[in-house]
Amino acid sequence: MSKVVLITGGSSGIGKSVGEFLTEKGYTVYGTSRTPERYPNSKFKLVVLDVADDNSIKSAVKTVIETSGRLDILINNAGAGITGPIEEIPDAEIQRNFETNFFGPIRVIKAVLPKMRAQQSGLIINITSIAGYMGLPYRGIYSASKGALELITEAFRMELKDFNIKITNIAPGDFATNIVAGRYHAPLLDNSPYKIPYGKTLKTVDAHVDAGNDPTEMANAVLKVIETPHPKIHYKVGAFLQKFSIVLKRILPDKVYEKMLMNHYKL
Ligand code: NAP
Repeated sequence: MSKVVLITGGSSGIGKSVGEFLTEKGYTVYGTSRTPERYPNSKFKLVVLDVADDNSIKSAVKTVIETSGRLDILINNAGAGITGPIEEIPDAEIQRNFETNFFGPIRVIKAVLPKMRAQQSGLIINITSIAGYMGLPYRGIYSASKGALELITEAFRMELKDFNIKITNIAPGDFATNIVAGRYHAPLLDNSPYKIPYGKTLKTVDAHVDAGNDPTEMANAVLKVIETPHPKIHYKVGAFLQKFSIVLKRILPDKVYEKMLMNHYKL
């Protein structure tokens, strides 16, 4: 019997690529979108789900279980970017980003756990970000939301071990997707003192994402993790230098690392 996978955010980018690849490999895939009707050509079934809406999460999980009888793998992939000087990002937007990138994935995990516990098996993969390993300038909220998801996964793992439910993180580097188009950019205040450094940083960040790797690389990485009997706690997928930046943070003195980041963003 083929394994049943639920991928949040299956309409574009990484989620779409992972969904298509797993479908090809024989998995039964359900993706989600807030507006599935906009994607009639999806190669796998898309169900309605907004990670900020608990009812939509419960209803999507119910649909999967009623249709397929089980739910083996959850890929918590839905997420959104946010940039801006922290001082000038409206509180509501900071909260909205955490709803999508942190509280939302926790809600989805809570919704699938009863079924996975009853099955005495399950795998949950949280798609975090290499940006979650360090506080990046003008992307601090994004870094914090993804870093929080990395940490909570560590805690979940220990709580879920007795139920044979595995949980892991995959942190992507830059991948060419629609994330820049869907990202929230804080509108700068008139005479904002951040105008020049924010502009410079954003230029570097956008250039990196546009020149990012093909999301099929993530699809291959996800399949490998699914097929591993004992997944690690953290995976990183992407360009060597992006992955290496995490190693550098571990070994360099804090201030040297900070200087390196500032040079990179031309600050
Ligand atoms: P994307 O192309 O913009 O796709 C984002 C997906 O998330 C869409 O399918 C979207 O679905 C869904 N989504 C957004 N907000 C949602 C919400 N409130 N509720 C439910 N679904 C929502 O971006 P992507 O690059 O593939 O991003 C996928 C994941 O990878 C994200 O968690 C992102 O943070 C992470 N990531 C990406 C990169 C990168 O360079 N691309 C790097 C590191 C981490 P609908 O709009 O159809 O609802």
